[in-house]
Amino acid sequence: MGGRFAPSPTSALHLGNLRTAVVAWLLARSTGREFRLRIEDLDTQRVAASGEVAAQQIRDLAALGLDHDGEVVWQSARIDAYSAAVAGLDTYECYCTRREIAEAPSAPHADGYRPYAGTCLRLAASRRQELASTRRPALRVRAGGQRFSVTDLWAGEETEVVDDFVLVRNDGVPAYNLAVVVDDLAMGVDQVVRGDDLLSSSPRQAWLATRLGGAAPSYAHVPLAVNTDGVRLAKRDGAVTLADLAPLGVGPAEVLSLLARSLGLADPGEAVTLAQLLERFDPLQVPREPWVVDPPGYADAEENRMSTT
Ligand code: GLU
Repeated sequence: MGGRFAPSPTSALHLGNLRTAVVAWLLARSTGREFRLRIEDLDTQRVAASGEVAAQQIRDLAALGLDHDGEVVWQSARIDAYSAAVAGLDTYECYCTRREIAEAPSAPHADGYRPYAGTCLRLAASRRQELASTRRPALRVRAGGQRFSVTDLWAGEETEVVDDFVLVRNDGVPAYNLAVVVDDLAMGVDQVVRGDDLLSSSPRQAWLATRLGGAAPSYAHVPLAVNTDGVRLAKRDGAVTLADLAPLGVGPAEVLSLLARSLGLADPGEAVTLAQLLERFDPLQVPREPWVVDPPGYADAEENRMSTT
């Protein structure tokens, strides 16, 4: 049994990502589970610095004291496993462009995800042939429009109609929804803790897990970190990564204290260890609202530097 943290190496982990990692670690450890780490680098293969970004993410997690079990899993090394999984599923080729999908008559979900209307399932053979000579297909799973529910630890029941979602993109890259499920099954992950922007993808992924002969994991989606305008926290909001915060005198210990405070597990400014947090942790006390972060800006950093010279 295991929990995991699975960052995409697109940019350094910010306070919101680090907080989710702490919750994932606490939930795994407090329930006697392993804690695994996975780098979701399928989409970032062509980004030259993604290896370095990932290495820094791994160092940042270690700096907070978040230990993990087993080797770090890199999705880019698991292409064969994804192909094998696809081979066992009922799939069909889809030639639709982004634009065609956007214009198809299907109502988008609340988060903007547009379920596939099944256009390529009903293609006449001649049209299919014509398209095949000019476009590369994506591969979709035939889901048959079933409803599937999961129960999130905090959000409760989440039900979606599972559409024929993409398993392999038309550039040949395995899709996130496939890789995440194949990996969680292979890594013995039965507890998924991640940002709540992914809540609505859970029924789809849980359904796929059962299709691949596994069991759906339990889910706990952590409310996102937002800036003072209520917008999802980002680099431009100020000093939000360990690398940004260190020169301001905010080291990993202070960051852990800040995250613990945001989770109701420490008093303001109280120094804490992960062992203490583990003793105090009660999953039902995790705040259900977004965490509002007002990070020190770069102007403050400049002022600090000037006052210390
Ligand atoms: N790689 C995803 C992200 O960084 C997380 C995927 C997951 O936890 O299932 O947002």
